[in-house]
Amino acid sequence: MNFAYSPRVEALRQQLNDFMERYIVPRIGQWHREVQAGQYPVSFMGDLKALARSEGLWNLFLPALGEDEPGTRLSNLEYAPLAEIMGRVGWASEVFNCNAPDTGNMELLHLFATEQQREQWLVPLLAGEIRSAFAMTEPDVPSSDASNIQTLIQRDGDHYVLNGRKWFITNASHPNCKLLIVMGKSDPQGEAHRQQSMVLVPFDTPGVELLRNIPVLNHVSPEGHSELLLRNVRVPVSYLIGREGDGFMMAQARLGPGRIHHCMRAIGMAELALQLMLERCQERKVFGRYLSQYANLGDRIAESRIAIEQARLLVLKTAWMIDTVGAKAAAREIAMIKALVPRMQAEVVDRAMQAFGAMGLTPDTPLADLYTVARALRFADGPDEVHLRSVARLELAASQERRGGTAAWLKPPH
Ligand SMILES: Cc1cc2nc3c(=O)[nH]c(=O)nc-3n(C[C@H](O)[C@H](O)[C@H](O)COP(=O)(O)OP(=O)(O)OC[C@H]3O[C@@H](n4cnc5c(N)ncnc54)[C@H](O)[C@@H]3O)c2cc1C
Repeated sequence: MNFAYSPRVEALRQQLNDFMERYIVPRIGQWHREVQAGQYPVSFMGDLKALARSEGLWNLFLPALGEDEPGTRLSNLEYAPLAEIMGRVGWASEVFNCNAPDTGNMELLHLFATEQQREQWLVPLLAGEIRSAFAMTEPDVPSSDASNIQTLIQRDGDHYVLNGRKWFITNASHPNCKLLIVMGKSDPQGEAHRQQSMVLVPFDTPGVELLRNIPVLNHVSPEGHSELLLRNVRVPVSYLIGREGDGFMMAQARLGPGRIHHCMRAIGMAELALQLMLERCQERKVFGRYLSQYANLGDRIAESRIAIEQARLLVLKTAWMIDTVGAKAAAREIAMIKALVPRMQAEVVDRAMQAFGAMGLTPDTPLADLYTVARALRFADGPDEVHLRSVARLELAASQERRGGTAAWLKPPH
């Protein structure tokens, strides 16, 4: 077992860190000022994207690119430490065309779209020219269980007609969001996991209505986690992805690598919170001693480091499994990291906030944003409980297969 990053990954980490230090970190303040002034996308985003692309820091997330598609071919294991670096700044991933949910949508199109669909949507997404959203969750049904969704996709001659309401749709308020991938029911009477289909819906199709950008913990993201109404939205049947009834299966395929990406970014955010806490503890004196000199602060630092390292190793193992045995065989690991990492991030950020005093709750540090992301991640791509349940089920099933294997351990010693 080798825990070292390969020379290639080390070189990319350095290149990415340099890029972050030179071009992104110095613009964090400007990003906030422009967004607050209603300038979105921010004025420098196009230039930074062009620069990142010219440096080869582009589409790092997609391992299975075709030869003629722009990007760096990396495995999930190689990409994981890079996602961690980008994750420290909320908007940085977009500079490298590695931001959710576009990455998941590109992977979906890469795996399942027809040649014509790829030409129309995957090519501009890979080039970073447009943005997209994935619309599954609905206000009226518990969407933790995707088989509950109610949006209807009804065939009418050469068209599908969509009716439904979606919410928390990330990216839907982005001015450049041109595509919705909508999950709905094409066969409400069918077998539970074959009722769903996915359809490509150009955002400007009549009947698509953007109702509101929903604040999360009272924080409004400019790209939006938005509510949408779909009223008699008509699209040609050629806009179906895969076959009718494939929606549930494709949603599972889409979410595996996407969850790893979220987790790696979350580790980057936890790492940033710990670095901020470490410096604060060595600068701030209370009751005559530096915070770092108090044993309980030392414990919090140590607990945070231990938690981050544990989480990182499990995420790297999960990435390695996706690369070697596939997302399906890595289902238990994917569920484990999704249940573990956002909670770890929230705990580490919470400790850092406490070390900063009241300042830790203000926009003068990134901690409030890091906490908001961590808390939201405990829902996005499925709440903790769903992932914990998956792990428990897999453990119980494996135990069934080994049934009786522990009997000898229960026998009395004589
Ligand atoms: C910031 C953010 C961004 C998001 N982006 C998107 C997006 O781009 N596209 C999209 O379609 N959706 C998105 N979502 C929605 C997210 O996927 C859903 O909120 C999530 O799947 C849970 O569905 P729900 O909110 O309907 O909760 P419900 O299904 O109503 O569940 C409520 C609660 O029940 C509990 N619960 C659920 N299942 C179990 C169980 N098996 N055992 C025990 N308890 C359980 C959990 O505590 C859960 O929080 C986003 C959410 C957030 C917060």
